[in-house]
Amino acid sequence: MPAKGYVEIDIERCKGCDLCVLSCPTDCLALNISDTNSYGLYYAYLKEEDDCIACMNCSVICPDAAITVYKKEDQPKQRS
Ligand code: SF4
Ligand code: SF4
Repeated sequence: MPAKGYVEIDIERCKGCDLCVLSCPTDCLALNISDTNSYGLYYAYLKEEDDCIACMNCSVICPDAAITVYKKEDQPKQRS
C-alpha cells in the first residue's frame, strides 16, 4: 500500500501553470479558479487530501518550488 501524503502549496509562489495538476498520478490536485493570489493568479490546491501518496511528482515538476510534500507520519501529531 503506498504511503499517504500531504502537500502544502505556497499560493504566493504559484503561478497556476497546471504542471503539478497534470503530473499527479492520483488526480488529487486542482487549480482553484474561484480565487487568486495577490498577483491575481489562480493557484493549485490539494482537492482530495486522502488520495495523496507522497510520490513527490508535483514538487519536482513545479518550476517555482511552491510545493512541499510530507508523508503523513511527518506531520505533527494533533493534541487531544
Ligand atoms: S505528492 Fe504525488 S500524489 Fe501527492 S499531490 Fe503530489 S503528485 Fe499528487
Ligand atoms: S506547478 Fe507550481 S506554479 Fe504550477 S500550478 Fe503547480 S504549484 Fe503552481
